Amino acid sequence: MTKEFGSAASYKVISKLENNGYEAVFVGGAVRDFILGQDAKDIDIATSAEPFEVKQIFSNTIDVGIAHGTVLVIIDKEPIEVTTFRTEGSYSDSRRPDEVLFVKSLKEDLMRRDFTMNALAMRRNGEIVDLFGGASDMDSKIIRAVGKPTERFYEDALRMVRAIRFSSALDFTIEPTTLSAIKQHAARIQHVSVERIKIEMDKLFMGKNPVKAFNYLLASGLGRKLPLFPSEVKGLDQSLPFSTPLEGWGFLMIAGEFSASPFSHAYKLSNEEQKYLTALQKAFKFRKECLFSVAAYYQFSLDVLTTAEKFYHAIYPNELTISLETLIESKKNLPIQSKQDLAISGKDLLTWTGEKAGRWIGEWIEKIEHAVLHEQCENNPIKIKEWFMHDFKSEN
Ligand code: ATP
Ligand code: MG
Repeated sequence: MTKEFGSAASYKVISKLENNGYEAVFVGGAVRDFILGQDAKDIDIATSAEPFEVKQIFSNTIDVGIAHGTVLVIIDKEPIEVTTFRTEGSYSDSRRPDEVLFVKSLKEDLMRRDFTMNALAMRRNGEIVDLFGGASDMDSKIIRAVGKPTERFYEDALRMVRAIRFSSALDFTIEPTTLSAIKQHAARIQHVSVERIKIEMDKLFMGKNPVKAFNYLLASGLGRKLPLFPSEVKGLDQSLPFSTPLEGWGFLMIAGEFSASPFSHAYKLSNEEQKYLTALQKAFKFRKECLFSVAAYYQFSLDVLTTAEKFYHAIYPNELTISLETLIESKKNLPIQSKQDLAISGKDLLTWTGEKAGRWIGEWIEKIEHAVLHEQCENNPIKIKEWFMHDFKSEN
């Protein structure tokens, strides 16, 4: 543990809370990642002070989730999340606790956390509070639920997806009782909002070992209970890792042969994301039917083309692959990259014909675009005029 942990500001927050008679510690993913020797992302502080007390101590705070006990403390211009020790009341729907209760004991707060590695705390002096064997589980690269896994997954079914996303994020193994509880409660995932699932899936795709996670999703039966998930995933090894979460979604869509639109709706992807998946699906279909045509190079971005090719190669490893250089060259060598590159505009058509403006202009621009793209006509004003006047006259 040679790395530094936390900013000066975060230590100030803890000192100030302690000086006011409260207990305060670092908790959550940042402590886990620190012990694993990885860069800690967002630092979370847990404290015995209640939100109103935190607000009395610090002059600059923002209410971000008072009902759940979270106050954002701004100190030295840095925002730091401070959350009151809490337990969660009963869960009647596998989704949200019916109530959140603030408590004074750190132990109770750590008990409600999902996995042993996520239930660690670190004091200001670096002392680790490890009540559930989290450090030893991390040594063995094991994801183990805190308490009885069946109860914990019954309370909040999202934890099952979290277990599997951590198997990818950290390349850890899910401890057998924890895994069998996922098998048992898989169907309960249907009580969880797709927005919460998506956040975890995004992290799963970006993890070290998404293949492992896909295998867990398939083997545990949890995948089958997700809104849409392939029943088998071909080409797992070659297609990974993903460079963005959206690429991961694209892979699932293609592996499951889902259409972009229902797939995007099922996971509430944004319009922008749906647009990308629609293009990816089309490009993949092109690729499957024949090599990319000029039209394909023209209509798809290089990103879509390379991703489609990567997935094609993963799923059909014995087929010929197109190298990245070839994709780049083929796209670069097109006579035009878009309509904007045409050497003429609608105005020229008006001048040449003396006709009134109308729908015909757009239609002819498209014909010219097609002719130039397919090298039936050179992209210069004289050649285009020749080609156009000839065809225009014969049609009018
Ligand atoms: P990451 O580094 O990817 O953010 P994380 O462990 O910090 O991972 P968060 O979703 O940020 O994950 O949650 C912070 C902490 O809150 C977790 O480490 C865990 O202690 C607790 N936690 C989060 N979600 C749950 C849950 N569904 N059930 C129980 N505890 C949870
Ligand atoms: Mg976190």
